[in-house]
Amino acid sequence: MTLTSEDTALDPDLLLDGVHLIGGDWVPARSGQTIDVVNPANRAVLARVPRGGAEDVDAAVAAAEGALPAWRDLDAASRGRHLFAWADLIDAHGAELDELERQEMGRPSWGPPRMGGQLRYTAGLADKVQGQSLPTFSPDALALTLREPYGVVGVIIPWNAPGPQFVMEVGAAIAAGNTIVVKPAEDAPLTPLALAKLALEAGIPPGVINVVTGYGAEAGAAVPSHPKIRRVGFTGSPVTGRAVMEACAKNLTPLHLELGGKSPQVVFPDADLEAAVPQMTFSITLNTGQVCAAGSRIVVHRSVHAELVDRLAAQMQQVTVGPWHRPVAMGPLINATQHERVLGYIDVGKESGAELVVGGGVPRGDGLADGFFVEPTLFDKVDPASRIAQEEIFGPVLSVIPVDDEEEALAVANGTEYGLVASVWTRDVGTAVRMSRRLQAGQVGVNSVLGAPAIGAPWGGYKSSGFGRTMGADAVLEWTQVKTVSLRDAAPPG
Ligand code: NAD
Repeated sequence: MTLTSEDTALDPDLLLDGVHLIGGDWVPARSGQTIDVVNPANRAVLARVPRGGAEDVDAAVAAAEGALPAWRDLDAASRGRHLFAWADLIDAHGAELDELERQEMGRPSWGPPRMGGQLRYTAGLADKVQGQSLPTFSPDALALTLREPYGVVGVIIPWNAPGPQFVMEVGAAIAAGNTIVVKPAEDAPLTPLALAKLALEAGIPPGVINVVTGYGAEAGAAVPSHPKIRRVGFTGSPVTGRAVMEACAKNLTPLHLELGGKSPQVVFPDADLEAAVPQMTFSITLNTGQVCAAGSRIVVHRSVHAELVDRLAAQMQQVTVGPWHRPVAMGPLINATQHERVLGYIDVGKESGAELVVGGGVPRGDGLADGFFVEPTLFDKVDPASRIAQEEIFGPVLSVIPVDDEEEALAVANGTEYGLVASVWTRDVGTAVRMSRRLQAGQVGVNSVLGAPAIGAPWGGYKSSGFGRTMGADAVLEWTQVKTVSLRDAAPPG
């Protein structure tokens, strides 16, 4: 039996139970098995989803192949119109989608979702995918390039922002004329399924978007290894990213990877600490630190170090923790494994010699007993080589590292395997320019965090944070391949 939360009802039209989407049909897994989807704030079972596997992915690929010719050959403006219609339905169901995502994440509300706006930006790009004309060796020839879709493509997404990640990858891929098989994360597949339902209702033809739910090692692994999937987009951990890339290598399938981060925030003596501290706190507690872009390392000049730590400690102590239906700042972690992992990292931090300033435990109190909650945690005087400064924790754990000058700050900031986002806190334009150029990250923020200032900004990593770009025009181009066409006059004069 499926239980829904007694606190807030979920929209029954958007709560898909026991079925995933193949070729426009809502069907169970071939195996007949299901996976419980649990609210991590109270462990209530929200729904069950099919435990899909290779057979289900096969069926989804066949459906996507069937839908491909008509979708690919539809004029691009009409494809865009379908996406606009989808965006309108997403906006019309904003509150219901937010409630669904909140309950599968256990998190508090962040206000109306922005997915519709993001999708509209992508929809507008559908008829702006264009090639070039090129100078030729002779006047009786023409040379031009076409940007064509790959065909059937596959996407694997994580659980930490299941709605936006689904819309971002699917929107760009289908705007470019591909048809798609999506494997959402087993911890948060309900919002992706609801979004796929709205896509069908918006008139996106059956088979253009297929969603196969299931575990990573089963349904997930079947995506990059499928010979008919011509391109893969993966967002998730670096460990899984490597496995996906290896599987793609066997079929020489191109891919892009959006992986983890250990994003530094470099604080100079002239920084506006009053403005910076709330944003720093937000960037490590938003979504309980389960954000690839979380600003998890503060690299601070020694002259403002003590003041910054005092301010951060005061701010982090004010972060309220609780389940999704309360007006708190921070919800639980996604599951028991993640809870153990984050608490394990806090122990590692304590043993490393770093100074524990705030948090470090499991909060107690009314309504917290059944959820995977953890306290916002601040470590000071962290060794930049230590594990808590090098490894992605994916929880609300902030490390402060004091440095003496700009060169040391850069060495520490760039001194991890990651390169997703970096922030600089300064009022000096020269410092901002130098740091923006020298920080190794796909996104640099000056006096800003989380690295996503504009809806159309491309998003992606340097180093082990991945390659390729999602969001913006670059994202649509990622889902195209270039064909050169040359034409000659069959009977040139003379
Ligand atoms: P994960 O790698 O465990 O899982 C991601 C997805 O991969 C899930 O759908 C999972 O089922 C699937 N998967 C697992 N094993 C697989 C396999 N062998 N083959 C194919 N698919 C498989 O990651 P997660 O814990 O769900 O997400 C957290 C990670 O995602 C963090 O590292 C975070 O930084 C990263 N992330 C990155 C970005 C970005 O834009 N760079 C955005 C969000 C999350």
